[in-house]
Amino acid sequence: MGYIELNVLNNETSPQAMGIDLGTTNSLAATWKDGRPVVIKPEQAGNGSIPSVIHVAEDGTVLVGRQARDKAMVDPRHTIFSIKRFMGRGIADVQEELKSFPFPVTEDENGVIQVQAHGKAYTPQELSSLILMRVHDLACRSMGGAEIQRAVITVPAYFDDTQRQATRDAARLAGIDVLRIINEPTAASLAYGLDQSAAGTIAVYDLGGGTFDISLLSIEEGVFSVLSTNGDTHLGGDDFDRALAGLAMEGLAEQLSPEELNDPGLHQAARLAGEKCKMELSTRPEADLHVVLPESGVHFRRRVTIEEFDELVAPLVERTLDSCRQALADAELEPSDISEVVMVGGSTRMPCVQAAVENFFGRLPHTELNPDEVVALGAAIQAHILIGGSRDLLLMDVTPLSLGLETVGGAVSKIIARNSTIPCSATEGFTTYADNQTGIEFNILQGERELAKDCRSLGQFKLTGIPPMPAGLARVAVRFHVDADGILTVSSREESTGAKASISITPKNGLTDEAVEKMLADSLTNAREDFEAGRNVGLVAELGTMIRATNKSLPDVEEHLDLETLADIREAIEASQAASAAKVLDGKELQRVRDLLERATMPLAAVLMDGVAKKALAGKSLRDV
Ligand code: ADP
Ligand code: MG
Repeated sequence: MGYIELNVLNNETSPQAMGIDLGTTNSLAATWKDGRPVVIKPEQAGNGSIPSVIHVAEDGTVLVGRQARDKAMVDPRHTIFSIKRFMGRGIADVQEELKSFPFPVTEDENGVIQVQAHGKAYTPQELSSLILMRVHDLACRSMGGAEIQRAVITVPAYFDDTQRQATRDAARLAGIDVLRIINEPTAASLAYGLDQSAAGTIAVYDLGGGTFDISLLSIEEGVFSVLSTNGDTHLGGDDFDRALAGLAMEGLAEQLSPEELNDPGLHQAARLAGEKCKMELSTRPEADLHVVLPESGVHFRRRVTIEEFDELVAPLVERTLDSCRQALADAELEPSDISEVVMVGGSTRMPCVQAAVENFFGRLPHTELNPDEVVALGAAIQAHILIGGSRDLLLMDVTPLSLGLETVGGAVSKIIARNSTIPCSATEGFTTYADNQTGIEFNILQGERELAKDCRSLGQFKLTGIPPMPAGLARVAVRFHVDADGILTVSSREESTGAKASISITPKNGLTDEAVEKMLADSLTNAREDFEAGRNVGLVAELGTMIRATNKSLPDVEEHLDLETLADIREAIEASQAASAAKVLDGKELQRVRDLLERATMPLAAVLMDGVAKKALAGKSLRDV
């Protein structure tokens, strides 16, 4: 008897954690494979990036990504974008943004923003969770149905505690186990391996779709700290599109009446034409600005040269440099102190941007990696390290702003200074202000200013149960703890009597643990169901295409297939039709029949390919092949 050799699956090469860049405009995932980070490119998403856009249909069905973005023109009121701007914010924080949003936004009693769509309210956390679900789901599926629950998620360096917590909650709602929340510029620096340089100061220039961020980081023995951040939350690639759209509108003004010029559809078309032209100009000396609206008979074409474009957008580029100057001033640095410059964001592909940054810092910026992939790649490296992967280094971030408490008279007592390396904690002693005071109200503040009213309040809580005693006798210890994700927990204890009270704070504009639990439990309004409904609609469409393609080619190749194969194909088609026509779509069943149909039609595909090959070879002599 001989031995049978077993092919043992090597677990080490299978990816087990991913990094997710949850962007304002686009999101994407990367993982560690064969010793390096790679972007996961699902078939449905082309280059791997998924538009951070959500469409809610009248029946509550949710589409996420490309399909949702396509709805922006036809159904703008229910197409939700830029949700990252709302994360962990209250309605007062986003007044500026609201002006440009076509969908209605309100605030609930806890100060959590709600986006209204078809009578249903969605929090930014839920909406972000839908994007995360889509990114995560496509990534897992494109890796052969792998179940990777653990992920590192990136946020801007300036995100405060509430915004980070909101991101974490979104991931939780999406069923993702968050290994760590890290800063986008830190991730980008990791992707370039800058953590391995002994010491230096890094400038990360991130020009995305709608935002600009400049972050100055210092790196010392593998530890990153944020020296300063600056930027403009309303400056990005969109502005460059609008500049070109403006050119098109000027030209169109000669053809159209003022009424026709006011058509929102025309504006949208001009913007899209602007973006297309802009992108072409990143690799070519001239490109066409081409607006067509067949329904209204609009047709406009104009050639734009790179010189013309550079001049048109020079003021926008200059504004990014103003932010760079400010960031340097805040960190008390000169451009020449910067040892590395890293380019992040799709808009840094523009040659005029690269030239301006090179000129400003006096050194060639890093552009070797794909600028819209670097953040996800860095997050994947970090995820790999956190699950015990090889590249050993200690990665730390710092608190971007000081944290403290409001004291009597509206002053601020800082407990954790800004730029403290996290995780960190600090404890301060407080006492009562009045005789027989049995409770203390704490107001947790974030910011550098001296007065509470000038800082941002992260939340309030009350410590009760202090035994009555004269003022100044009670000893209340308040502990601030910032964990490795930059998330703050505040607890307090009355020490003189040994009485304890532990409190968890409810950040303003954030979700309570109960609220998250409720959302998770609430199957009726559960975002996952809406998401699955959207996915099911996608699967039904995919099945329809597969069935049509099979039916079309079957007659031609039938004679080459054996009876069993034909029976399998017919059976799979019937099962697919039944699953697609079901009153209540069943995601698992749809996926099953899709896979079934794919397997059943493999021999058919083989015969078709064979036919194509034969045709291609026909008439050629052997030597040519
Ligand atoms: P965000 O971080 O805001 O999600 P991205 O980093 O994905 O954004 O950048 C999106 C922006 O990059 C869009 O404005 C897009 O037009 C722009 N962009 C993408 N490719 C190019 C290109 N080849 N040339 C110029 N701009 C580009
Ligand atoms: Mg980005």
